[in-house]
Amino acid sequence: MKIAFIGVGRMGSRMAYRLLEAGHELSIYDPYTPAVDDLKKRGATAAGNPQEAAEGTELIMMSLPSPATFIDAVVGETGVLNKVSPGAIVIDFSTVDPATTKEIATQCARKNVYFLDSPVSGGVAGAASGNLVLMIGGCKEVIDRARPVLEVLSSRIVHCGETGAGQLTKLSHNLLTAINTVALGEVMSVSVKAGADLKVLCEVFSAGLAGSKMLDYLPKTLFTEERPANFAIDLMHKDISLCLKEFSNYSMPLGQLVLQTYNAARLKGLGGKDSTSVNELYEELINLRLTLN
Ligand code: NAD
Repeated sequence: MKIAFIGVGRMGSRMAYRLLEAGHELSIYDPYTPAVDDLKKRGATAAGNPQEAAEGTELIMMSLPSPATFIDAVVGETGVLNKVSPGAIVIDFSTVDPATTKEIATQCARKNVYFLDSPVSGGVAGAASGNLVLMIGGCKEVIDRARPVLEVLSSRIVHCGETGAGQLTKLSHNLLTAINTVALGEVMSVSVKAGADLKVLCEVFSAGLAGSKMLDYLPKTLFTEERPANFAIDLMHKDISLCLKEFSNYSMPLGQLVLQTYNAARLKGLGGKDSTSVNELYEELINLRLTLN
């Protein structure tokens, strides 16, 4: 199938590798040249802007860093809607807000283009191995049309409801993930400072009700020497902010506290580090480094 892919960063590049390996024809757009060059070497065609990438394709996929870049890629001056064929499907893997999603879906529908919001969970490793969880909002028939290609990327396709329901689910997921990240960092750093062994804490917490996938993830990220930046603090901050805006009519004191914690990390210049590195704030406060090595 002829597919366009807009935004080939940490997540998009891994998804694009899989689509190429599965034999699809890929035209890509990303303003960051090294990311484009890497994919060109693997067989993708580079386009000068989103509309050029989308021309003549049946599926247009994107993985972008913000609502503004998503809007621009679809309905901007050189957005995909200028050149896309009627009947094509636009699938957005970025994490953005439900209201923007619904507005863009409406503009797609006016041009007889179908739209699915499909934010993802599973990180860079899930994208590379085709084990992403897709949280999809939109029409079941459209999902079924795209399913053979989506199955190259995902081992779990969840139809969350109508347009925007995927994003609502994803924002809720990420707020909970951020709360858990900070909760684990606070308790574990203070416990280690008080004399506990980090390895023992991991083993015992994992076996008990304090266990979580985030706890199992920390030994591969925060607790390593190199601390790979899989999902940036800046992106998690974006997701928490979008989520709290979405839920602004409700009281969410924990969410607000965690937003402030991520704000503090960004003010300290940690925005490009992994989202789990928000806990470097605790490390600094009590003067220790959480590492299993
Ligand atoms: P990233 O910053 O690594 O990649 C984003 C890419 O988009 C970059 O290559 C950038 O050059 C490109 N870009 C920026 N503006 C653009 C534009 N106007 N048109 C085309 N491309 C543009 O980010 P990422 O970590 O790959 O995340 C992408 C999306 O996926 C975000 O919405 C993020 O919240 C979400 N997400 C990320 C992860 C993760 O683990 N990294 C997990 C789940 C969801």
